[in-house]
Amino acid sequence: MPLGLVGFPPRTAKPRRNVQLLDGKSRIETARELEADGIKTLNGKTFGDSQLKKILTNITYTGSLLFQKEFVSDPITKKRKMNRGELPQYFVEDTHEPIIDRATFDFVQAEMARKRKLGAVGNPHIPTSALTSKVKCGNCGKSFRRRTENSKYKVWKCATKDDKGKAACDMKLIPEPALKATCAEVLGLAEFNEDAFTERVETVTAYEGNILIFKLTDGTEVERVWEWHSTARTDCWTPERRAAWSEQLKKRDKSGRWSPEARKKASELMKARHAENPNWNNRRREE
Ligand SMILES: [Zn+2]
Repeated sequence: MPLGLVGFPPRTAKPRRNVQLLDGKSRIETARELEADGIKTLNGKTFGDSQLKKILTNITYTGSLLFQKEFVSDPITKKRKMNRGELPQYFVEDTHEPIIDRATFDFVQAEMARKRKLGAVGNPHIPTSALTSKVKCGNCGKSFRRRTENSKYKVWKCATKDDKGKAACDMKLIPEPALKATCAEVLGLAEFNEDAFTERVETVTAYEGNILIFKLTDGTEVERVWEWHSTARTDCWTPERRAAWSEQLKKRDKSGRWSPEARKKASELMKARHAENPNWNNRRREE
């Protein structure tokens, strides 16, 4: 039995699926496929992303050994730590029979590094647009994500705000039509064009006060303030409707309650408005 592979059951000795990353599949997708095929870990559990990462980055499979990958950081608690340059490492080549050739291994490492750098754009399974990974939050530095927030148009939202909520980052959402219109204006185009954007815009950073700073590929910087006039609200807030609604509000008593008849009338007004434009209230919810 070759050194370093002691105890490897024969069925795992041939890596059947490592090639998937070479086909452009993500680790998470590979993990899902392994699960669908009923391929489990030695302990009978399903493979997860972190286990696949461990396997794909394990140099031992190439027939070489790296010593002192980890070390005991505290002799009392015996806590082990990854050796990130704290102690020397010893690399010994050709210590045992390889199950992955070195060129494949190196390619996989380079591919993982490339995808890490690209972020969402590097993963074909995440739907992306030209704006993905280019719109940055001026508050926390994370990228904006494309989201649907109960509205008929998409919005772009800071990833920190999306994951951890307003308390973590309170950068305002940008309605996609407003973002695209501003991009088109900066590029001197009548309407947004993905190719022109990809070619000419490095990053767009969003700041408080609807400010967008465009860093262009030619090295120049352009600042713009985005505006958004939701058509949703103006569509149904005609002067007549507004007057009717404010009349209706006056009918409330001192504690803010309507009489049963007045409430019925208010509810009719609301229903009529909603029927005309189901999205009339969305803008307020997004802000
Ligand atoms: Zn943010």
